[in-house]
Amino acid sequence: MIKYDIAIIGGGIMGASAAYFLARSGQAGTICVVEPDPTYEHATTPQGAGGVRQQFSVAENIEMSRFSLDFYKRLYDEMSDIPDLPDLNFREQGYLFVVTQDGEETLRRNQALQSSLGVQANLMEYDEVRRKFPSIQRDDIVLGCHTPDDGWIDPNAGLWCFRRAAEHLGVTFTKARVTGIEAGETKVQKVQLDNGEEVAASYFINTAGPWVAQLAEMTGGNLPVKPMCRVQHFWKCAHEIEPLPLVKDESGMFFRPEGDGFAGGRPSFDIEPGFVDDIYSGFFANYFEDTIWPMMAALVPKFEELKLQRSWFGHYAQNMLDGNMIIGKYSPNHDNIITACGFSGHGIMHAPAVGRALSELALTGGYQSIDLTRMEIARVHNNSPLPEIGIK
Ligand SMILES: Cc1cc2nc3c(=O)[nH]c(=O)nc-3n(C[C@H](O)[C@H](O)[C@H](O)COP(=O)(O)OP(=O)(O)OC[C@H]3O[C@@H](n4cnc5c(N)ncnc54)[C@H](O)[C@@H]3O)c2cc1C
Repeated sequence: MIKYDIAIIGGGIMGASAAYFLARSGQAGTICVVEPDPTYEHATTPQGAGGVRQQFSVAENIEMSRFSLDFYKRLYDEMSDIPDLPDLNFREQGYLFVVTQDGEETLRRNQALQSSLGVQANLMEYDEVRRKFPSIQRDDIVLGCHTPDDGWIDPNAGLWCFRRAAEHLGVTFTKARVTGIEAGETKVQKVQLDNGEEVAASYFINTAGPWVAQLAEMTGGNLPVKPMCRVQHFWKCAHEIEPLPLVKDESGMFFRPEGDGFAGGRPSFDIEPGFVDDIYSGFFANYFEDTIWPMMAALVPKFEELKLQRSWFGHYAQNMLDGNMIIGKYSPNHDNIITACGFSGHGIMHAPAVGRALSELALTGGYQSIDLTRMEIARVHNNSPLPEIGIK
């Protein structure tokens, strides 16, 4: 059995980011990340759209986005001592939220909050949206909010930047799955692995994404986080389209330019939570043709003529209470295990801020940068949801 100071369960972008910030601090001692799959075939991270935006209604989400956006923009400076980093492919092409009359008041309120927190968020009447982005044509839109500093990254590259940097700084990535957790009355002591080995540590971080609740159960924790299948599509359009930001509407439908085509989709909340292994039969069988394409073409008429190239899927870790993250302690009797989970579609954009917050919790027991107390498990116990209002 090997003993570390800190063991992280799950090495997706969240676990890798936490490992990076811990290692970078120089105060964390020995760190191990237990991750069964270095190809990340089933992990959520590589399936994400990589969008990084500051348009939120919950102040903590805005603050996390501001730190993370800036971090991604200066990642190669921050990690200048790390060799062989992949290309993050950051595209500073902005975000555009568009709403109908029903969403107008909320969009204005959110924009005011974002501006007060230092975000460049520009409201645009529909005429202005049309002038700036002529391909967007849907007459029930009354207002847009454009955040030109936002953009998107390659999420797999983001994960591997954190992982390579963490490894370079001395973190051990162990290729194994945690199958059991051994705990005393107040402390978690060690985790059992599917290769028969054990890892002991003084402190544990559970960042197992959509699997997080299974691991929480092992110490009596009850996290209301379930896997929710999300399908994405890549298509090519027959017509030239001006450079567009990532565009999202009130239905949750979004798309953005990707290479010589477009990537996008829309979360469906009509499906039961749970892992899905096939999108070519059942609920998602004709999802693009029947649901996504007509909605896209209604917003961008040029999308009437497109060719679907590929569809793929991943699983949100969905917090069933309010769709926002849960961070901090969660195990009823154990004070040396924490989590960050339930990111729905926000985990890539918040990974730098959350990795830093996890590192602060592990090293000091509190938040030193952004106060994330409102995002802790207490709101679940008190049944006090903290949802995003407006476009999620
Ligand atoms: C289609 C889609 C689009 C998205 N678009 C965006 C977007 O535009 N912007 C954005 O910010 N976010 C987006 N997201 C969300 C984002 O991808 C996730 O929030 C983020 O990747 C979560 O990272 P994670 O590290 O928590 O989870 P994961 O990447 O799932 O990592 C969890 C890891 O835990 C490991 N694990 C599981 N069980 C065990 C175990 N027993 N022992 C050890 N390890 C274990 C897994 O192998 C996995 O590697 C999108 C998600 C999807 C599905």
